[in-house]
Amino acid sequence: MFIMMKNTNSLQYRSRFIKALAKELGFTDIGFSKASFMEEEARNLETWLNQNRQGNMDYLNNHFDLRVDPSKLVPGAKSVISLSYNYYTEKTQQDHHAPKISQYAYGKDYHKVIKKKLKKLLSSIQEEFGDIHGRCFVDSAPLLERDLAKRAGLGWTGKNTLLINKKKGSYFFLAEIVLDLELEQDQSTEDHCGTCTKCIDACPTEAIDEGGYILDARKCISYLTIELKDEIPNEFQGKMENWMFGCDICQQVCPWNRFSSPHSEPKFEPKDELLEKSKKEWLEITNEVFDILFEGSPVKRTKFEGLKRNLEFLRKN
Ligand code: SF4
Ligand code: SF4
Repeated sequence: MFIMMKNTNSLQYRSRFIKALAKELGFTDIGFSKASFMEEEARNLETWLNQNRQGNMDYLNNHFDLRVDPSKLVPGAKSVISLSYNYYTEKTQQDHHAPKISQYAYGKDYHKVIKKKLKKLLSSIQEEFGDIHGRCFVDSAPLLERDLAKRAGLGWTGKNTLLINKKKGSYFFLAEIVLDLELEQDQSTEDHCGTCTKCIDACPTEAIDEGGYILDARKCISYLTIELKDEIPNEFQGKMENWMFGCDICQQVCPWNRFSSPHSEPKFEPKDELLEKSKKEWLEITNEVFDILFEGSPVKRTKFEGLKRNLEFLRKN
């Protein structure tokens, strides 16, 4: 724990206290931004929604006013604490012909793991700074997580539309605490994509716009394998690159991910069975095996029927 003269009214003290605590809890990075209306982001979101690029994720149309203004989520909110949590691993599925799962879903459901830590962080802030009100979010509320993280200096939005950090890459979850405590705002980071187009060139379904920075979710393998409730359209036959849950291609090719280092969160460790399953075993997976293998895992989101649909689609490739 850091040693510093205690003055709970000092923005510098608050900043150092909260940042040190977040690191102790295992967060990869942390930054602060003002809780206020996000004008530019609101315009971009409106355009994206009007173009129906969200597919059947209808929930993204809801609560527009809240989504673009975090101060509306907590009465009197002054600040947003943005946090990242590393999930990168060098472990991979052993059968190179086996249908693939995105790394973020290898272990236990990140929502639960991270929410617990956010709550601890908020209660320590309350203990230190008194009657503070706040709410914790991890992929769970109408909130522009990536844009807030960018404002808080955690990284820039890459052409693949993910948040990228110059020293840590992009394999991390994002989370937030919106609270009525004033905090020192961090500086946002500049874009370091430069002339690179690796993610655009590598995306097998051309889900990223030609110039980057805009994603058509309807074409993204992550959407097709996780969010889409109907059949996967036939136009994607032969383009799925063997992904059965999510897709990591635009992260795998990103040069900044050479700086990713393995996480140290035991709850994100994949089960041996998951890494060892052969292509044949995946194609023959039963409901019972699915329930045991993915107990407490984000893969449960597709349910057994969803995963079977994806496997069947891949089988026809
Ligand atoms: S996750 Fe896969 S399909 Fe989606 S944009 Fe990235 S490379 Fe394309
Ligand atoms: S692959 Fe290149 S263009 Fe794409 S996000 Fe990474 S640095 Fe940016």
